[in-house]
Amino acid sequence: MAYDPDNIFAKILREEIPANRVYEDAQTLAFMDIMPRADGHLLVIPKTQCRNLLDASPEQLSAVIATTQKLSQAVMKAFGADGVTIQQFNEAAGGQEVFHLHVHVLPRHEGKSLRPPG
Ligand code: IMP
Repeated sequence: MAYDPDNIFAKILREEIPANRVYEDAQTLAFMDIMPRADGHLLVIPKTQCRNLLDASPEQLSAVIATTQKLSQAVMKAFGADGVTIQQFNEAAGGQEVFHLHVHVLPRHEGKSLRPPG
């Protein structure tokens, strides 16, 4: 499926709309989810155009996963979490709402459920 360069994460990448940016390197950007389902809920995206996992290049995948691992370790430490849930949705039927590849990093505490978005 086609990539829409006007999706909200593309606008965040171009700094056309604000985001609470927490990490950036040459290939990836991470920012806080606007409707967090856990304290420290953040999103990792590639800087280059990519609709979702289904059309990602090996380079995009490896960069996003490497940043996801790094930030999972960092947010677990920062939020005193016991674990981390990694979530990723593909196409509307798969639960995707924003059509630029992104990975959710959700710090988890023992016995605590994820909150509804908000
Ligand atoms: P998904 O495509 O189902 O993973 O849902 C998109 C995610 O992006 C949701 O968790 C939203 O809360 C989040 N989101 C949507 N717009 C923004 C934004 O402008 N900044 C940060 N997060 C956003």
